[in-house]
Amino acid sequence: MYNQYCYGLGSASSCIRELFEYGLQQAAIVGKENVYDFSLGNPSIPAPAAVNKAAMDIIQNEDSLLVHGYSSAPGFADARDAVAKELAERTGTEIHGSDLYFTCGAAPALISVCSALHIDADTEILGIAPFFPEYRPFIESTGSKFVYVPADTDQFQIDLQTLEKMINKNTQALIINSPNNPSGVVFSKETLMQVADILTKKSQEFGKPIYLISDEPYRELVYDGIEAPWVPSIYHDTIVCYSYSKSLSLPGERIGYIYVPAKLTDAKNIFAAIAGASRVLGHVCPPTLIQRVVARCAYEKPDLEAYDVNRKLLYHGLKEIGYECASPDGAFYLFAKAPKGDAKAFSEKCKQKNLLVVPSDDFGVEGYFRLCYCVSKEMIERSLPIFAEVFADEPE
Ligand code: PLP
Repeated sequence: MYNQYCYGLGSASSCIRELFEYGLQQAAIVGKENVYDFSLGNPSIPAPAAVNKAAMDIIQNEDSLLVHGYSSAPGFADARDAVAKELAERTGTEIHGSDLYFTCGAAPALISVCSALHIDADTEILGIAPFFPEYRPFIESTGSKFVYVPADTDQFQIDLQTLEKMINKNTQALIINSPNNPSGVVFSKETLMQVADILTKKSQEFGKPIYLISDEPYRELVYDGIEAPWVPSIYHDTIVCYSYSKSLSLPGERIGYIYVPAKLTDAKNIFAAIAGASRVLGHVCPPTLIQRVVARCAYEKPDLEAYDVNRKLLYHGLKEIGYECASPDGAFYLFAKAPKGDAKAFSEKCKQKNLLVVPSDDFGVEGYFRLCYCVSKEMIERSLPIFAEVFADEPE
């Protein structure tokens, strides 16, 4: 006997993974250069040089027992202080190392926060479509219900009226993700201020805080001078889940953090519940070498030039062909409308030409497809005529 829920998760095939595997198979047959794989969001710019330099220096010059040993559960105090200092300066707010809980990336950060907020089988955590598909198992595995607000397909901001209607006495939290995977859209300050008003009103109505979980692995990946607003300055009951996977191109190193602002309602107890959740999940003490690296590299920023070039090339190329796209202001995703509205059929048609695009159904919205532009510029250039061919081939 084994756990049926876990079996279901582990044996279900992911559309993104299937496309990626298909791409590898096709590359062996038709040649790598003839497969246009836009399926996986794996960073394509290397980590800043300072990251490798810090890692080598730490390995060569710091106490090996310290570097490779356990840290305390939430991470080294000096590393948390270094990260908090930069964050405080950047956001103009008071943040201390003791407000941060280091995690093995955003995924365990989100699971720990959702576990910490789970009350009983009626507990609901709201998402906003389109959303990162892993939210569902992250939330459901903790025993809570995952419910989502349908997409605002005009702007890919947030359908505020529906959000307000969907909040009820069982709503514990709302998860937002901006810059967004899969839409590439950045939520505006106006949108977030209205979300804050709704959550404040509903918290009062139900006599308990409704938390906002801000999932921010793409926080620094923004273009054209746009900035992702600092959510805790807009809504006081915000918990931030952060990751260095995309900002410093370190997804394999598994490092990120949870920020629990001191002003959060029940901050100390929530922090303790997060610590307890991380403990039972076995996610305490994330890799210690990389904790020391991110502490030294707290002021490092990604060089977004290559993503920006790709973003413009793909966006303008697709628009010229006639595709409708969401405004690609952040992350490294472009979200476009399937010309005739059937995303799965469109993705299948593209697949026949070795053009791998992810249909939007798993992101909680129908009729769109996602492209990850963390690929080579040359691949984008060569893929545009194929996008044109599939577009022209769609029946009127
Ligand atoms: N949240 C979003 C929106 C993501 O896109 C991802 C990864 O792609 C994660 C969380 C998980 O990131 P991590 O690698 O830090 O676990």
